[in-house]
Formats: sequence, structure tokens, C-alpha cells
Amino acid sequence: MTRWGMVIDLDKCSACQACVVACQSENNVAPPNQELHEQGRSIHWIRVLPTFEGTFPHFRMRLFPLPCLHCDNPPCTKVCPVSATYKSEEGIIGQIFSRCIGCRYCTTACPYTVREFNWKKPVWPEEMKPIRNRDVSIRPKGVVEKCTLCTHRLQKGREKARVEGREMIPEDYIPACVEVCPSQAMIFGDLDDPESEVSKLVRSRRAFRLMEDLGTEPKVIYLSEGGGD
Ligand code: SF4
Ligand code: SF4
Repeated sequence: MTRWGMVIDLDKCSACQACVVACQSENNVAPPNQELHEQGRSIHWIRVLPTFEGTFPHFRMRLFPLPCLHCDNPPCTKVCPVSATYKSEEGIIGQIFSRCIGCRYCTTACPYTVREFNWKKPVWPEEMKPIRNRDVSIRPKGVVEKCTLCTHRLQKGREKARVEGREMIPEDYIPACVEVCPSQAMIFGDLDDPESEVSKLVRSRRAFRLMEDLGTEPKVIYLSEGGGD
């Protein structure tokens, strides 16, 4: 069985935010405005977050991209009272927007705080409305949303392979953030295929998972800085 996952190489990430912009555009996340920003309520499915290590003057800042980590043991899905969020057979943590009642149990359960609640109706500038992605539904006020690993691209890739009468290949399904990253810091693929690039990278001694001790088993895995495997 396929188990989709991602590796993010912190040695290669330049924190350019191209992944953030690509994700917003691909997934119809409304652009943040001043009011939402000031209230801390703007929505992002992936953020580039700063972390700080040490004390001045021996001080270091690390920037790392943070989407939903698509945990293999996700606390968020277990608390949803209406099964609006679930783990697919291929390990993607999905969200059924029309089922969500906005209780926000899942946002509290997620230790990585990557779930976003629509406090307001999303608003787009008029000129952006025609270029919204028709493959992704618009979320209304009052529901939770988050990274889906661009699961609509998986459906399209699968359909393309079917129409062409062949098996899916890795190029058929690449999330928008991975596709756009200019330094190829994000690598995506099947973690259950020992020969896939992600599987090989996960075996690197630089590989680590965020808050591993919680037992959430994230399928987004980081490679620490310091290179040279
Ligand atoms: S906010 Fe929505 S998805 Fe989250 S737990 Fe409540 S109903 Fe489920
Ligand atoms: S990172 Fe958070 S939202 Fe994503 S699967 Fe894990 S617990 Fe759920």
C-alpha cells in the first residue's frame, strides 16, 4: 500500500516562502488582509516558522516550513465528533468541509497547531476571483481547514494514468509546494516504497520528526542542517 510522505531538507531551504505562496494559490486560501493579520486570524496551510537556539551572543535562528505533518497516529482525527477529518488508506489526513461543525476540538488536539479555523468569510480581491483553482472547494466561515497534501492532484494524477492506460508514476502526483521549491528542499513520495527518494532520505542520519516523543508519527520528516550524509 502507498503511504504518502514528505522530506524537508533544512540545509537546502532558504526560507524564500515560495511554498507558502504556491500553497495559498493552489488551494484557494484567501490572501491575508490587515485586519485578519492584526487579529492573528489569517489562514495559511504552510508557514515558514522561526525557531531560536542558544542565548546571545551564541545565538542561532532556524527557519523551517511547517505544513500539516499528516501524522500516522493523528490526535486530531480521534477527537472529531462528526468524522469530518480522517486518515485515508494512503495516510493523507483529509478534511470534509461540509461535515465540519466548527467545534475546534481538532485544532486543540493538534500539537503542531497547523489547523486553521475560518473566523470570517474568506474574501478575495475581484481581480483574483477568476484565477481561483476549480479543483479545490472554497471553505465557508465556521469550518476548520488545513493542508491536504494537494490531494486533488492525486485524484487528477490517478485519472491521467488511468486514461493513458498505465500505472501511476511519481511525476503524476506532486504537491504544489514541492513543485515550486526553487532549491528542491522538499521531496515527496511513497514512504512504503524502500526505493523511493523519500524513503532513502528518511533513512539518513540527519532525519528527525518534530516532537517525536508524542508518538504522533509524522509523515513529514525533516533533515537537520549540517549536510554530508
Ligand atoms: S472543528 Fe470540524 S473537523 Fe475539527 S473536530 Fe470539530 S467538527 Fe471535526
Ligand atoms: S499535524 Fe496536526 S492536523 Fe496534521 S495530522 Fe498531525 S495532529 Fe492532525
